[in-house]
Amino acid sequence: MNIIKQKDSILDINQYEKDFERMLKDFVNAASFEEQNVQFERLNRHRLAYQASENEVRIHYFGNTANDEYNKQYAFFQEFEPNWLWMTGEYYREILNAKFRGQLENQWGNQLFKIADIMLKTYSDEVQEDIRMENHLVSEYQDLLGRAVINFDGKELRLNTLALYMGSPDREVRKAAFEAKSGYFKQHASNFDRILDDLVKIRNRIAKTLGYSSFVELGYDRMHRTGHTPDDLVQYRKQVKEHAVQFISSLRKEQQNRIGVSKLKYYDESYFFKNGSPSPIGTHQEILEVYRAIFRELSPETGAFFDELMEKGNVDVESRTNKMGGAFASYCGPEVASFIFANFNGTSNDVRVFAHEVGHAFQFYMSRHSNIHEYIIPYDSCEVFSFTMERFVWPWMELFFGEDTQKYQFSNLTEAFIYMPVVSVVDEFEHFLYEFPTATMQVRKQKWRELEQEYLPDRDYDDNAFLMQGTGFYEIGHLFTSPFYYMDYDLAHFAAVQLWIKQKDDPKSAWESFLQMCKQGGRLPYPELLKSANLESPFEDGSMERLLEKVKSWVDQVDDRSF
Ligand SMILES: [Zn+2]
Repeated sequence: MNIIKQKDSILDINQYEKDFERMLKDFVNAASFEEQNVQFERLNRHRLAYQASENEVRIHYFGNTANDEYNKQYAFFQEFEPNWLWMTGEYYREILNAKFRGQLENQWGNQLFKIADIMLKTYSDEVQEDIRMENHLVSEYQDLLGRAVINFDGKELRLNTLALYMGSPDREVRKAAFEAKSGYFKQHASNFDRILDDLVKIRNRIAKTLGYSSFVELGYDRMHRTGHTPDDLVQYRKQVKEHAVQFISSLRKEQQNRIGVSKLKYYDESYFFKNGSPSPIGTHQEILEVYRAIFRELSPETGAFFDELMEKGNVDVESRTNKMGGAFASYCGPEVASFIFANFNGTSNDVRVFAHEVGHAFQFYMSRHSNIHEYIIPYDSCEVFSFTMERFVWPWMELFFGEDTQKYQFSNLTEAFIYMPVVSVVDEFEHFLYEFPTATMQVRKQKWRELEQEYLPDRDYDDNAFLMQGTGFYEIGHLFTSPFYYMDYDLAHFAAVQLWIKQKDDPKSAWESFLQMCKQGGRLPYPELLKSANLESPFEDGSMERLLEKVKSWVDQVDDRSF
């Protein structure tokens, strides 16, 4: 089945739906475990064929949004989405009711069944209208940011162009650019307030209609969190407060000295090096060829993976007109082959982003043997693989950065940590929003400001009265679009840093652990995935302190004064 290779997708889709219904019926009516198991595999492959085709269409469309054919195909899949969700629901229902469910769980792992169970709880026809309203508010938020036009330097700028000024070596320019940005948020404050307030109320109503006690539970289910609870995160944030906040303060002090200011202000926070970030050596083709050599050296598995990626031409990293921005990894085609999409811009970020996406793509490649979409694309742990790969390629970074290698490594490690307290602010704020859904915006802003003072005691808004009122959350997209997602990055990072430490001590066994984790993919929930590789749980008291001790000792041996 290859939907997109044929022009008339509608006809194919009809056949696809018919095949699906027949397969589902055969699965339900199977008379023995062996027979049900065969039908289960067929169904999963059939589902995967749809996902792979949809991914392929998205990749083509994102690569050239001006192409009419891609446009049409992409729109078709968008339109078909409700039918697809319905089919997924039917599949989930029937595997949960399967006659030989116990044996299927033994063979394929129970995580798929747990996901099926929670995903069915997150939806009913009664909430259809509220979900439509929720999606509408999310697009309204995205439009408000996407269409933002800011007058600066005599020009009308979008936020992403303004960011160039926000990173200027001239402090006055940085400050003015940051003020221009917060001016935009101030001008539209009533809209941001209304959108968030409506989102909280609608999400709370959806949760209640579905029988949840609050949106917190529903939010966790939407994130496929089958292994950890809000209490675990209370424990985690406590560790951040007790140990990470102080560590980040020391990193900020070093940054302050490095960039030569007497006190770090909010507009200095993302300005890390006086002499700019290190630049990689080479064109984008050269970067890919160097990476080919690196992945061949790293392990036979990554070598074979990378050769397949290049052979199939499944890498699109050059920036072009009409190409969508951003970077992601995906899978496509009948072989469920990995694909990497990025927009190289000649900075050190190209090298980091590519390793990051290889981490995702390599894990998909190692998990695809399951033929189960939910295992190929893990939800609660997907960033473990990408963050780990960013660090596993460190021993080869000299090929890109020469004498700037340590500077790149220093920035790759410390900049990820610097966001740790910010993530906790967002996470605790989200829990507050949905635990107290009737709180006024005034109270919510006070809460945001309190949390900032608790987790980011060094943050200095330099008399920007608007930001001091607790409005800094307006620009945190995840908070509006995908509640509770933000913390997944930090939890993933916690695991990735442990693998990096292991790699320094014993590269072979670190690689072996990582490889096993990639084979599991989404088959295990986050806490069990960590356990399977003998990694410490971030929810365990003392784990943060032990982790930071090792990180500090690496940071301490780096002389960052010349960076
Ligand atoms: Zn990622």
